[in-house]
Amino acid sequence: MKPIVPFISTLPKQQIKHWIKALSKKMPKEKIVNFSEVKKSEYKNIKLAIVANPKPDDVNKLNNLVWIQSIWAGVERLVSRFKDDQIKIVRLIDPEMSRTMSEAVLSWVLYLHRDMPLYKAQQNRSIWKENFYIKPSHKTVGFLGLGQLGKLAALKILNNGFNVCGWSRTKKNIKKIKCFTGEQGLKKMLKMTDILVCLIPLTKKTKYLLNYKKLSYLKKGASIINFARGPIIKTIDLVKHLNSGNIKHAVLDVFEKEPLPKEHVLWKHPRVTILPHISANTDYETATLIVANNIKNYRRSEKIPKFINTLKGY
Ligand code: NAP
Repeated sequence: MKPIVPFISTLPKQQIKHWIKALSKKMPKEKIVNFSEVKKSEYKNIKLAIVANPKPDDVNKLNNLVWIQSIWAGVERLVSRFKDDQIKIVRLIDPEMSRTMSEAVLSWVLYLHRDMPLYKAQQNRSIWKENFYIKPSHKTVGFLGLGQLGKLAALKILNNGFNVCGWSRTKKNIKKIKCFTGEQGLKKMLKMTDILVCLIPLTKKTKYLLNYKKLSYLKKGASIINFARGPIIKTIDLVKHLNSGNIKHAVLDVFEKEPLPKEHVLWKHPRVTILPHISANTDYETATLIVANNIKNYRRSEKIPKFINTLKGY
């Protein structure tokens, strides 16, 4: 009999169906089913589950669960709900996602670098006016986070002629990238940054990391891209800096509340570009293959894939 692997998710039914079909194709030896179809009598035999925004109560119904495989790269919501480390959380680590994210970072860095928000605003008022051009070699792009996503994106920006620096928890040694750690390191990096790219996970330590004071360390007229999680930036403090012009523009893909409420001030702010959390979506093709390999290896060796350190929070 095939072992049951429940897919636990609050995604729309059609999406769940699509995921189950794609995952089943890659794992013919597993019985992948929507959690709602699993009988109570079967709960005790289940050791692993695949999840996408699951209801924690559903996960908790499985008393013998050893690990859960998320099909997302960001698992902060799961980490906040399963703190005790009893159930290991495995997040998606997918080179295709790093590639997609680095493509998004390059696109929006160039959007800011070439003053597209300004030219769009000028067009709206039929203004023909050339803005002073500064070449990439005279600009610095700073990265918060040099992990799976941040490092590749930083290298892509470096290859496009910008100066690049990065901040992480542990010190990195990456050729031609100035690497910083700690509070003082962050201050130093922000002071030299023209475009800040945020790619750190949301943890107790990074919540509201970018408050009024930290944002004021940025170079005057710097811009921000947040592709990580909304609460890393204190929105009201960001708006203050945007209103004063200290920060020229913010490209935001993630928010404290998603979808961003219709009445939110950010929607109409002239210095803000809103994206609906699309900078790097999970790719069905590569993600299902990675999940299938993780599960195959586990069945063969009982070895749980690299899981989240709940103490660190990522
Ligand atoms: P990762 O591989 O775990 O890398 C995280 C990086 O952040 C590491 O460099 C880590 O430092 C650093 N970091 C963590 N806590 C820190 C702290 N307190 N101080 C300084 N640096 C800290 O994560 P990833 O795969 O690159 O993903 C990053 C985040 O992107 C995810 O958590 C998720 O929120 C977001 N994301 C967004 C989208 C989207 O579509 N918008 C898609 C996927 C992911 P060390 O290297 O020293 O550990």
